[in-house]
Amino acid sequence: MVKAIVGANWGDEGKGKVTDLLAEQSDLVIRFQGGANAGHTIINEYGRFALHTLPSGIFYDHITNIIGNGVALDIQKAAAELQELMDAGVPAPKLLISERAQLLMPYHVLQDAYEEERLGGNAFGSTKSGIAPFYSDKYAKVGIQVCDLFHDARLKERLERAVEVKNILFQNLYHKPLMDPQALYQDLLRQREIIRPYVGDTVAYVHDALQAGKRILLEGQLGAMKDPELGIVPMTTSSHTLAGFGCVGAAIPPTAIEDVICVSKAYSSDVGSKTEPFVSELLGEAGDELRRRGGDKGEFGATTGRPRRVGWFDTVATRYGCMIQGATQVALTCLDVLGYLDEIPVCTAYTIDGQVTKTFPVPALLERAKPVFTTLPGWKSDIRGITDYNALPANAKAYVDFLEAEIGVPIRIVSTGPKRHEIAWRGGDTI
Ligand code: GDP
Repeated sequence: MVKAIVGANWGDEGKGKVTDLLAEQSDLVIRFQGGANAGHTIINEYGRFALHTLPSGIFYDHITNIIGNGVALDIQKAAAELQELMDAGVPAPKLLISERAQLLMPYHVLQDAYEEERLGGNAFGSTKSGIAPFYSDKYAKVGIQVCDLFHDARLKERLERAVEVKNILFQNLYHKPLMDPQALYQDLLRQREIIRPYVGDTVAYVHDALQAGKRILLEGQLGAMKDPELGIVPMTTSSHTLAGFGCVGAAIPPTAIEDVICVSKAYSSDVGSKTEPFVSELLGEAGDELRRRGGDKGEFGATTGRPRRVGWFDTVATRYGCMIQGATQVALTCLDVLGYLDEIPVCTAYTIDGQVTKTFPVPALLERAKPVFTTLPGWKSDIRGITDYNALPANAKAYVDFLEAEIGVPIRIVSTGPKRHEIAWRGGDTI
């Protein structure tokens, strides 16, 4: 039984919290894409954590956590995160790193920063974690797999080949110091000892687990709008964020995913660059207030600390984000945040060059889209921590009903606070 937990929107929807909650009933949690460029915030009995590389099941001792082959593995960041958990008293986790995952190298991080610097005012607003150069190298076939670490001659040869091209770029395009392949090689020999205990054949492990009927959770990072193919190109990330890619990045057969839980916030937030189209954005004082009240500590990036752009719920974007991932249900987070509002606008359509549409347009048209709002009454009360859905104020339930009708996918999980059990199950307490 495989469930995927993915973002319906721009990322930061609260996937970490939902994964952490559902992980309780899982045997395996697998990260299948991305790297340490985004973070999931998890608040539990050990403290508050921003996980960047480790899967969200890492706090449970009954779960095997897998860094799948689709992930960009920065060994130093993964090791630092493991150390942070140990320092907080979390029991030693069961972690498996795919031997087919590829290594995010220091030259990826440098190239990312150099390229943003070169682009100046046209920069993508990259987190400079090296993700775009990493995935470019993977598809250009000059990436280094985790398994290469344990074959010295092959490792040396792969590294020299990759560094040769980087140095041509660094010298001639960016006018920066060159990389020394020998020093990188020595670093990798040290780093392989850190991860050696965790490396394994996750493909076989996952397929054995499927055969044995284990419960598997696929944990997505970012959201549908950030997909490099179906998202808001080019303001996307560089790995596929969609549930469908879970099959590739975790080596799961496409037919095995039975449940696709698309997570969406009760309002919109986007940590991307200012130049990205963000149709239902709320600016000025009202936007500052929502940003301040959002999430568990205001809407600021878990990895970057950057203020997130905020806006009203966008049903056009969310319906699209659910549709392209085959959502079987939606988990709606942060409903509690809206309790201060007299009325709540919801973006239910876009106007583009005078034409009204409910279909999510291509990026070239999205830039010109203006929001059409339907305004619903607020509930003007604090609902944080309410776990009985029926106990929610009538206007809060009406808001959820309205979103569900617009998105066309059942909303089963309604999150009423950042903590693990601050959840109201809509229509029964099972998923
Ligand atoms: P992720 O990357 O999708 O896991 O999202 P982030 O962790 O980056 O951002 C979600 C933010 O919302 C975090 O600060 C969470 O602690 C917080 N959060 C999640 N669910 C809720 C909720 O229901 N209510 C409130 N107030 N905060 C929530």
